Formats: sequence, C-alpha cells, structure tokens
Amino acid sequence: LPLLHRYVRVRKETLGLDDIHMYDLYVPMVAEFDRTYTYEEAKAIVTEGLAPLGEEYGKILREGFENRWVDVYENEGKRSGAYSWGVYGSHPYVLMNFHGTLNDVFTLAHEMGHSIHSYYSDAAQPYVYAGYKIFVAEVASTCNEALLIRHLLNRTEETQEKRYLINHFLESFRGTLFRQTMFAEFEAAAHRKAQEGETLTASALGELYHKLNEDYFGPEMVVDPEIDYEWERIPHFYTPFYVYQYATGFSAAVAISSRILSGDETALAGYKKFLQGGCSLPPIDLLKLCGVDMSTTKPVDEALKVFGELLEEFCRL
Ligand SMILES: [Zn+2]
Repeated sequence: LPLLHRYVRVRKETLGLDDIHMYDLYVPMVAEFDRTYTYEEAKAIVTEGLAPLGEEYGKILREGFENRWVDVYENEGKRSGAYSWGVYGSHPYVLMNFHGTLNDVFTLAHEMGHSIHSYYSDAAQPYVYAGYKIFVAEVASTCNEALLIRHLLNRTEETQEKRYLINHFLESFRGTLFRQTMFAEFEAAAHRKAQEGETLTASALGELYHKLNEDYFGPEMVVDPEIDYEWERIPHFYTPFYVYQYATGFSAAVAISSRILSGDETALAGYKKFLQGGCSLPPIDLLKLCGVDMSTTKPVDEALKVFGELLEEFCRL
C-alpha cells in the first residue's frame, strides 16, 4: 500500500490539486495524445509488440488478422465493449468497437491474447479440458498488454509520450492489482459478517467500504461520503469470489512477460505449454509451467516492484 499512497501523492502534485478526490483518479496525468491509429497500424503495432512470443505465435496472430476473426468497428445494433468468444472446433472471434485510440490498440492485443489462448488449448486438449478456469483467464490477455507497453516505451524517445504510456500502465496496475484486491477484501469481510450471524445492512457495508478506501488510497486522498455506495454498482460482487483473480492474474502476467523479455527460452517454452493447457491441470500447476509459483508471494512482490519502478521513471521524466 505505501506504493499506492505514493502514486496518489504523485497524481495530486502532477495534476496541481490542493485536494485529491476519488474522481481525480480517472483523469489522465498527461494530456491525452491526440495521436490516433488506423486499424492497419494497430495490427502492425500489436504484431511487433508480441514478437517476443516467437514465430509460431506471430503466425497464429497473422492468421487471425487476415481471416476476419475480429469484428472491428461499431455497427447498428452491435453491443459496446470488447471480448473474445468462440466454440470448440472453430477458431475464436473478437468483438471490438475500434475508434483508433491507444486504448483500442491495447484492447486488440488483450482480446487476441484470449483468442490465441483458446486457440492453443482447443487444438491441444479434448473438449472437456479445453476451457480455462477464471484463475488463469486474464493471464494471456494481460501478458500481451505488458509486452506491448514495453515495446511502445522502447520505440519512443519522446518524453511526453513515454509519460503518457507509463500513466496508462500505472492505471492498469491501480485498477487491476490494487483496486480488485480491495474489492476482494470487502467481499471476504462481508461474507464473514454474514457467517458470524451479523445483519448485513447497506449502511454497515458502506462503512466497511469507506474504511477500505481510506486504507488503500492513503492519507492524501479525500474519501467523500458518496464513495460508500460504490460497492452497490460493482456487478462482480453478484458473482461471489470473482474479483481476486484479476489481481492474481495480473501479477502472474507481469512476471511471465518479464521472464520472456529477459530472453529466457525455458520461459517461452513453458508459456506455450500453459497456453495449450486449458484446464487439464489445476491453475497453480499450469502457472508453474511458466516458472510462476502463485502459492508464494513472489509474483505479487515482483509485480509491485515493476509498479514502483515505473512510478519512479514517471517522476524522473
Ligand atoms: Zn480480458
């Protein structure tokens, strides 16, 4: 948490605020780049960024791009957002609503991560073992994002662009690792109260949520009373014990991407086995194939170290 407290402090200073409120977290610290990308450019950037995953991965990626796996643009009656879906026996499909922002480029890398995970598992596993479990569901997608950010940071010398990119990644960390862990704590505490026979009232849950926001965001943050109601609008709380896996999956993905970028051949070979694994092994064992042991604190510690380093680089720039 000290790292998150420091992030809040840096954000407050960068935005030039006297007081920082929760809603100030959602403003970019660097004025939005008016740079936009065509879909052709986005495909090229994603292909370059994922090159460290090897030739075979690149081939599957191109196969997807060239064979219309992706429904790219908005259309009448089309739903919003983005996701990857499919059925066993056919290649996966990606739904996108591409507008050409940097975020959209990351979304393309993310969703193709899901698709290629499905593609590998479907090819290697019988139907019953092909679907992957939620504990590993966001690993391949987030690993792609982590590789892409490294690629984009390496290819620019422009300070503002670097700061913008780091801001983007720090926000993913905050939203995925810190925030979802806070959600998980809230959820565990609420279930505990119920088990102990306490009456769950909206005000008691609001109080619990308020306190967690104070602990997580630290002394600089002004935690307004309105935030007490935020838990009510988080749809994932209606699916018990779902949120924690964003934080564990993100940590595992950051660890895997660092190992792959260090040029470790065994990491890449292990990662391919993981992608092919579906649910043929328990999730913890699947991740051990990539050299990541989620039964220890190491992957989380390492991910937090990356957060700290990027925060320092942001300040330096
Ligand atoms: Zn995803």
